[in-house]
Amino acid sequence: MSFVSHVECTICGARHDAGRLLTVCEKCGQMLAVRYDLERVKAAVTKDALRRRGAGMYRLRELTPLDDDEEPVTLGEGGTPLLELPRLAAHLGVRKLWAKDEGQNPTGSFKARGLGMAITRSRTLGARGFVIPSAGNAGGAAAVYAARCGLPCVVIVPRGTPPAAVAEAQIAGAHVFTIEGSIATAGRVVAKAAPALGWFDLSTLKEPYRLEGKKTIGLELAEQLDWRMPDVLLYPTGGGTGLVGIPKGYEELRAMGWLSGPLPRFFAVQAEGCAPVVKALAEGAENTAAWENPTTHAAGLRVPSPFAGRQMLRLLRDTRGGALAVSEKAIQEAQRLVARTEGIWTAPESAALVAALLLMKEGGEVGRDLEIMLIFTGTGLKYAPPPLDPSTDLAGTEEQVLLQVRRSVTGA
Ligand SMILES: *Cc1c(COP(=O)(O)O)cnc(C)c1O
Ligand SMILES: [Zn+2]
Repeated sequence: MSFVSHVECTICGARHDAGRLLTVCEKCGQMLAVRYDLERVKAAVTKDALRRRGAGMYRLRELTPLDDDEEPVTLGEGGTPLLELPRLAAHLGVRKLWAKDEGQNPTGSFKARGLGMAITRSRTLGARGFVIPSAGNAGGAAAVYAARCGLPCVVIVPRGTPPAAVAEAQIAGAHVFTIEGSIATAGRVVAKAAPALGWFDLSTLKEPYRLEGKKTIGLELAEQLDWRMPDVLLYPTGGGTGLVGIPKGYEELRAMGWLSGPLPRFFAVQAEGCAPVVKALAEGAENTAAWENPTTHAAGLRVPSPFAGRQMLRLLRDTRGGALAVSEKAIQEAQRLVARTEGIWTAPESAALVAALLLMKEGGEVGRDLEIMLIFTGTGLKYAPPPLDPSTDLAGTEEQVLLQVRRSVTGA
């Protein structure tokens, strides 16, 4: 038995039986979300009891869709550190700046949470294989968790996907295919291939379980900030699982009385070469429109037509947040800045947040006194390294070598 009451459509509200393997709303085709009996959760666990539990994504198990005796397919995802960034904050001129470092997850990105949960739950409900379109990290994570439970997986990625993520899927034994185009093209193949193979379609937010994994970022953030919320939260937005999932976690805790006050102002950050959410928000649109010729080296942001466009826009408006697009050059510079000031080699997607924060500061959009949260979604290690300075080659006698080092370091 779990604490789930039902599964609900986020648009038309139709109720679905949580005991069946679900995809999208059977009435209107939109995104589903798991709902809990929060009064029962509240009666079953206290903040004190939580403190004595082990770290990780299943720490607050009552707010996951798992049955009592359900063994998660796990590699130790979640429980990532919340890092204060004082040197970067000083550089940017903000008072409090934090990063949730999701690069420390298995597979090097927060996709481990979503796919770990989705594969756990869908397998219990009968899935016998998986098919997923991906810009990189999601495919790698799906392949890894499928391997972990011995089920087959098909991964379809656009050409030009970062090789480490493709290799990750291949070495885990997935059937990996590349295709010309973007994740949207891959998604169209998956929509046909999944039913043809009889395997479960893990496309972003086209099933309700991945969101429950991503939601655990919000649950952890609340606890790590001692049951407060930041003023502003920046999220690198592709399909938007975190942008929908993190506030879902916050709202559930708020309904339990564990958190109070308004949600943070949520900001979606995208790349100039693929910014459908930024465009739709600026135009006051209800939904995103497909972005033509999406390009960016931040692969996770190359999502031209996110399925949950409406839900993201609603959240950004409801929290009086916003959306910003940043350039490729600004992303690269921000990536170096974060590494130089705080020692974190973060993924280009999350570096984009720092580039956006620079823009917001310049535009006077964030005051000095705000507490700002960045979601560092992945590690930089999984991407082609940025262009580097040539390293100095040492040669000659020991004395000559020493002189070379000293001159190069001190300039004298
Ligand atoms: C997938 C991904 C994103 C985008 O996440 P969405 O939930 O699709 O918005 C951002 N950063 C990294 C590193 C990713 O892998
Ligand atoms: Zn519906």
